[in-house]
Amino acid sequence: MLYREMNTAQLEAALKTNITKGLTDEEVVKRLEEHGLNELEEAEKKSALLMFFAQFKDFMMLILLAATLVSGFLGEYVDAIAIIAILVMNAIMGFVQEWKAEKSLDALKEMSTPQVQALRNGEWERISSKEVVVGDIIRFVTGDRIGADLRIIDEASLEIEESALTGESVAINKVTDPNFQVVNSIGDEHNMAFMGTMVTRGRGVGIVTATGMKTEMGQIANMLQTAGQMITPLQHKLEQLGKILIFAALILTVLVIGLGIIQGNDVYTMVLAGVSLAVAAIPEGLPAIVTVALSLGVQRMIKQRAIVRKLPAVETLGCATVICSDKTGTLTQNKMTVTALWDSGKTWTVTRKEKEWDGDFFEEGDEKAKVTKSIKQLLTFGLLCNASEMKKNNEHIFIEGSPTESAMHIAAIKAGITKEQLKEQFTIVKEFPFDSTRKMMSVIVKDAHNKHFVVTKGAPDVLIGKCSSILWDEKVEGLNKNFNEKIQAAINNLASQALRTIAIGFKSIQPPGSHIQEGEVEKGLTFIGLQGIIDPPRPEVKDAVAECKKAGIKTIMITGDHASTATAIAKQLGIITDNELVVEGRELNEMDVKELEDIVEDVAVFARVSPEHKLKIVKALQNKGHVVAMTGDGVNDAPAIKSADIGIAMGIAGTDVAKESSSLVLLDDNFATIKAAIKEGRNIYENIRKFIRYLLASNVGEILVMLFAMILGLPLPLTAIQILWVNLVTDGLPAMALGLDQPEENVMKRKPRNAKEGIFARGLGWKIVSRGFLIGGVTLIAFMTALNNNPNDLEYAQTIAFITLVLAQLIHVFDCRSEISIFSRNPFGNMYLVWAVIISLVMALIVIYYPPLQEIFGTLYIHPRDWLLVIALAALPTFLLAGSFLLRKTK
Ligand code: ATP
Repeated sequence: MLYREMNTAQLEAALKTNITKGLTDEEVVKRLEEHGLNELEEAEKKSALLMFFAQFKDFMMLILLAATLVSGFLGEYVDAIAIIAILVMNAIMGFVQEWKAEKSLDALKEMSTPQVQALRNGEWERISSKEVVVGDIIRFVTGDRIGADLRIIDEASLEIEESALTGESVAINKVTDPNFQVVNSIGDEHNMAFMGTMVTRGRGVGIVTATGMKTEMGQIANMLQTAGQMITPLQHKLEQLGKILIFAALILTVLVIGLGIIQGNDVYTMVLAGVSLAVAAIPEGLPAIVTVALSLGVQRMIKQRAIVRKLPAVETLGCATVICSDKTGTLTQNKMTVTALWDSGKTWTVTRKEKEWDGDFFEEGDEKAKVTKSIKQLLTFGLLCNASEMKKNNEHIFIEGSPTESAMHIAAIKAGITKEQLKEQFTIVKEFPFDSTRKMMSVIVKDAHNKHFVVTKGAPDVLIGKCSSILWDEKVEGLNKNFNEKIQAAINNLASQALRTIAIGFKSIQPPGSHIQEGEVEKGLTFIGLQGIIDPPRPEVKDAVAECKKAGIKTIMITGDHASTATAIAKQLGIITDNELVVEGRELNEMDVKELEDIVEDVAVFARVSPEHKLKIVKALQNKGHVVAMTGDGVNDAPAIKSADIGIAMGIAGTDVAKESSSLVLLDDNFATIKAAIKEGRNIYENIRKFIRYLLASNVGEILVMLFAMILGLPLPLTAIQILWVNLVTDGLPAMALGLDQPEENVMKRKPRNAKEGIFARGLGWKIVSRGFLIGGVTLIAFMTALNNNPNDLEYAQTIAFITLVLAQLIHVFDCRSEISIFSRNPFGNMYLVWAVIISLVMALIVIYYPPLQEIFGTLYIHPRDWLLVIALAALPTFLLAGSFLLRKTK
């Protein structure tokens, strides 16, 4: 017998499980051991060894290796071994960086493994979908990605979209009845749900029938390739730039070698020095360092509670000009409490005592607490049409469910009404769950006398349209203009106090058939009253909004809530000013994108919108040239999240589908975290600029000193090994440390970066060339002076050139920390950099002062008098630049 043909009891027996208790921990461990984790196999990864050897695959590196081997065969053992040792050290550095980058990307992937709700030991638990085993009872709601193959045993309006498996994008209505029909394709299995498919509506419960590679998905995806590591636009630009730089470095190297030979230098020495120069000067490690900087930034973002799912987002974050944020839960706390009721023209206040579910009800103008029959009715219906449940965890009692419904649940408890009592009197026959497009939820219930009725709750402006009468002082009256105005005034009154309002209606019906649709019952209702729910703003958001404003980033509130409620909260948060607009969903319906474009920059709040409207808003903003960050949590938010420049999903309230479409997930659902991520994004980009500036200026300096020496007919200022050592000492650690630099003070005080700007924008190209010239220049002067003082001691002059070059670079690195001037930053602000510079300096001094290394590197002790010259010259570029900055400032 197939699973789809079984009834619940047969399924329990076949899969050895219990649908009320689920599996026990011991059973789970046993099944995990037997069948393994619920994962699809992935293509094999590059091994560590391969990753290490890949460091040598660079063209110039190969030429240098070949040249070194030749020199080894010619008897230059010391040189050859030293060069190879340096290259290996270099490769280790490169390998460590790449390894780190890979590990942190893996960790990110691990963090985005979806969670599922499974019934274990009689309790619903959230577990990683990897730990699901056959026989587990799993429940799921709209927006969940199904984590294994399941047989559905309970459902409410359940629809699942199976395009991941079948290619068919129309969602399938799912049922629980056994299915004995001939099934031609997966799409016909209406009581089964499959791994990788997506719940687009309703909710359901299922028993797991297959996991991992045994699922339908596992069978078609025998070898699932991991999605290729994404390259960010900057990395792409750098790759292209790398090619140009290689070309330029090669031409210059050939020039150096040619000139050197013409000037009478030894061919072999020139070739080795020239190729070493090329290896040193070509920033082949740049893309890897960028990846490391990006992934270290990503790690810092995780500490701030933002998870980057797509690396390019890190860069785009720094360009964001608009943040479109959901209100509930992101700008507000999502801690909802019913504080007001409205019934038959009277407004009531609901108070809270010490305990959350203790409180009183006061009618307007009355100082004595009381609960009338009609208030009880309003609360009872609010609890009947309500999916939240009371739970007990040890001694702790809490309500599980959506915050809106939990608030209504607690309000009912305050009046002494519990779900347990209601369950004794009423049975829920059918449920049409809440969805934010309909903005309503309904249940069909029957009482002990088998009388059926519909209870609906939802956004008042929507629900009123479905009502034809009103319960006024316990009498049913026709809903006329007079009543409508009263209701409208009550809604406005509650909304202006920033309360979210829920209206409740009901009607009696005949026992319905099993295929009844919501549209058939949600009409001709009797309006009962309103509940007003407070959801206070998050305290940190006001400052975050203000900081974004200073940084040239506008915040727009997008909410399904009433316009007045939204505006009241937007005012509290500083999101809306007097001359900004509030636009409602129904107005959006009447505008096309073009019309929206005309006003979109003046809108601060979009109220009563459906998720579908978000896409229009994103498009209009993008057409106006904005870089848009858009938040979302539901299935219907996915298209907008995908098309936004930065799609942001909620970590807590967000559905799997929203998370999968997003490039950033907020672990705490908090708006302030978006601001923190933007700040970090800006900082990461600036740090990348810092080390590009440092590395390229250093390389320009290295090439120029050699080139000018050859043009001037001087001997070689640096030997091959010295050049490689300079590269090793100065390139790696200080550049990495720049990648870890803290943001400059003004990082959130300037306008967003233009997304189209090139790497060398904002004067970076000029800075690189001018610093390169200065560094090369002072090194050459040091070399020439030393040579002039001791014309016969080339080794000494080379030692002086070597240390001047290293020092000039290590001083210049502090310059690179600021776009303004070296003075604008505390030199000890980045201790990584201080340590990196100290280590690099020690590495440079070792080869000058440790006799065995002196042999190998061809260096000599430096006379104290010459140290003065070296330090003065090495500091000169920075002094000159600082001086010119001060001059400009005083002008
Ligand atoms: P956002 O998260 O975008 O700020 P929201 O969460 O306030 O919006 P929705 O959840 O779409 O928006 O709710 C829209 C409206 O639907 C609410 O203002 C409320 O009137 C009504 N509503 C919300 N939750 C429920 C529910 N569980 N049952 C019935 N009606 C609800």
